[in-house]
Amino acid sequence: MRVHHLNCGTFAPLGMRKKFVTHCLLIETETSGLVLVDSGLGRADVTEPKTTMRFPISYTLRPQLAIDETAVSQVEKLGYSAKDVRHILLTHLDFDHAGGLRDFPEANVHISAAELRAARNPSSVIERRRYSRATFDHKPRWVEHSEFGTRWFGFDAVRDIPGLPEQILYVPLEGHTRGHCGVAINTAPQGPARWLLHAGDSYYSHTEIGTPPSHPRVFAAMESVLQTSKSARLNNLARLREVARYDAVDVICAHDPADLARYSAR
Ligand SMILES: [Zn+2]
Repeated sequence: MRVHHLNCGTFAPLGMRKKFVTHCLLIETETSGLVLVDSGLGRADVTEPKTTMRFPISYTLRPQLAIDETAVSQVEKLGYSAKDVRHILLTHLDFDHAGGLRDFPEANVHISAAELRAARNPSSVIERRRYSRATFDHKPRWVEHSEFGTRWFGFDAVRDIPGLPEQILYVPLEGHTRGHCGVAINTAPQGPARWLLHAGDSYYSHTEIGTPPSHPRVFAAMESVLQTSKSARLNNLARLREVARYDAVDVICAHDPADLARYSAR
């Protein structure tokens, strides 16, 4: 298995000095073709941003809209085609994670049942704003997950996902959205396990799970505004701090450029 770390969407949020990336993973597997973790912004988001990004989101997050950053463009640059991506595991359905789905209409799209329910039937102002029907109007091949019967470092998880290698697990981490999940990948299946956990939008800065943790105020504000459950989010953040202390586990989040830079430099 080889894991590529991609930035599939740069944002320059209003009032922030730092830019955000959208850290997606492209996994070359031996038996399951290409597997994508999150899909970032898609080509339609770049060419017709108003169809998915509405005010005030577009105004405050200021997406940079580069076609070369889309996952499908990066897949093609590696010599593959969109059809080679057989599975997409989504941390959640916010437009910046699901926008690229339209570029891979033949992929199986893994999602928690709770998240799909929330996106189809948004029940709050935030849910009506964050999800864009345009990202999944094409009827993706959903594979819904609601049974999380395995334990992984103290988390519930789903393992042995049909069609996927057993080294890839789906880990519920609700709080940011109703059905938010992480994806754990054993990147060293032959030797002692070496896990990479993509924790999506469970937090925004690696400093939040550091020792000691520090919580930049601007991120704390954003996390509070966007959360669907404060208690679940904070509980998961505490558990992510615990698991990040294990040598065998590296935890990354979706939008921190420092996390992406760590892997780009390798
Ligand atoms: Zn996000």
